[in-house]
Parts: sequence; C-alpha cells; structure tokens
Amino acid sequence: MRYGIDIGHNCPPDTGARGLKFEDNLTVDVGNRVITKLKALGNEVIECKPSKADTVRDSLSRRVNRAKSADVDVYVSLHFNAFNGQANGTEIFAISENSRKIAKTVLDEIVKLGFFNRGVKRGSHLFVLRNADMTAILVECCFCDSRKDMDLFDSEKMANAIVKGLTGKLPTEEVKPLPDEEDNVDMSTLRLQTALNRLKMADKNGKPLQEDGKLDPETIFATERFQKIMGLQVTSVAGNTTWNAINMILAKRVIRPNHAGGPIVRYIQHRMGAEVDGVYGPQTEVAVRRFQRQNGLLVDGIIGSRSWQILIG
Ligand SMILES: [Zn+2]
Repeated sequence: MRYGIDIGHNCPPDTGARGLKFEDNLTVDVGNRVITKLKALGNEVIECKPSKADTVRDSLSRRVNRAKSADVDVYVSLHFNAFNGQANGTEIFAISENSRKIAKTVLDEIVKLGFFNRGVKRGSHLFVLRNADMTAILVECCFCDSRKDMDLFDSEKMANAIVKGLTGKLPTEEVKPLPDEEDNVDMSTLRLQTALNRLKMADKNGKPLQEDGKLDPETIFATERFQKIMGLQVTSVAGNTTWNAINMILAKRVIRPNHAGGPIVRYIQHRMGAEVDGVYGPQTEVAVRRFQRQNGLLVDGIIGSRSWQILIG
C-alpha cells in the first residue's frame, strides 16, 4: 500500500494549536513514528508536509496535491485538538464510505489506549478532505490542551494504534527518538529561528540565527528585538502573541495606505526605516514608495506579493 502521511501544520504561517503542549511538536513526533512503522511493515510512504508555504491555504493545497500526484491509496492527516482545556478524546474526520471505514478502525485502536471516543465525524468542511480524491482521513489524536489527554498520551503508543488501525498489523518496530531530538533540539525553538531568519531579525551582529533548535542568547536577542518592534511585551519567550504576529506577517497580506494594520504595518515600517507606529500614514507611504523604486517595482505604495517577496521571500 502507498500511504500519504501529512504531518499537520509545521509550515508557518500554517501553525497548530498551543495547549499544554504544542500541536506542531506532537504531530511531528507521532507522524515520524507512523512513517517509520509503515515502512517497516513494507508499505510505501509519501510525506505530504510542504517545507514552505505562503498562506495556510497554500500549505493545505500543497499537502493534498502531493498526495494526489503520488497517487497514494490512503491519505492520513495528523492533528491534535484544542478547545477549552476540558474537552478531551479522539475524533477522526472522513467523507467517503471507504474513508469512514478506515477512520473507524483507526479510531477503535486509539480508543483502546484510554482516550474518550468522540466518534467518526463528517469532514466536508475540511479543505484537505474535500480536495482529496482518494481514501482520506484526518485524525485528531487527542487534545493538546487537556491535562487528562496529555497525561495519557504517549507518542509511541499513539503511532502504533494509528498504524494498527490502518494496516491491521501491530508494528514490531519500536522507534527510538534520534539522540539529538531527545537531548536538546527543541522543535519550537527551531521553528522560531527559521521564522525569525525569514523575517530578517538578525542577532546582535546582524547575522542570521543558527537554525539549531538551541535557545541561545542570539535567538533570545532576536526574539526580544522582534517583540519590541511589534510593540509587544518583551518576554524573550515566543508565546501566543509573538507567534500570532509572526504568522500574520508571514501570511503576506496585501497592505494599502491608510491601513491600520497593527503588527504587519509595524513590521513594514521597521523594514522601510519609517517610524514604527502601526498606522500606514503618509510618512510610511513615502518610505514604501522609496523601497519600491529602489527595487524596481511598480511604485504604488501598496505592499503586494512582489514587495513581500523581496521583504521575506
Ligand atoms: Zn491541527
């Protein structure tokens, strides 16, 4: 069988929920194990997570297109839920009859681990399922903001349950985390470093950050610098508000004069050398037009895709 395994999010601006644990870390952990185990059982696996995307929609369509072009038999998108800290359990989304059948067998296996059975649900509102033309499921493994679920959660067991549900076989292969993953590579720090580099938030010496997952003084410096520019509380830790600001900028929305754009306009002002106040007024427009002239762009004061391309790639 050929499986398309889609490790949810992990592609800013497509980032996941933040609860007691970060959805992105959980999907990577479970997803990599699922991939290894499926291969060990003799299956072919196509990894569907893109390395880069301009928007969330772009990230999602790249995932499903990857599965389509590789002609996978079954597409599996891996996610973790978050709601109010109280909700807990597992649910799996599917549309077609075949997909619902597989969803049920996977769900049954996960529920055996002790998670509350929230059922197989209709996923016609979900982009990846709506656009998949093969058997496709989206697994909400459990809730990353539920103490109950996070206490129960074990990535190795979760991966085994998913693989058993998909293949009917219990994986024999135990996956040991790579030594450096176990030791000190914090995926959320790595993501932060990658994002800050894209935003050209350099270290003290104007150099890009080392993308090594280590929360070193340079990374903290760049984080604080970003928070200052954004007018956020300077905490040296990238929490929700910092990530929201990062994601808003990476989404590369079109920005026009007279826009009160908050973080996005602040970022543009910083990059253009204009006064940073979050409001796109006449001074900012002068700076934007200068930037466009210098870069051989249409001088219209509108930050569109070409300007964004130059700013953050
Ligand atoms: Zn998700």
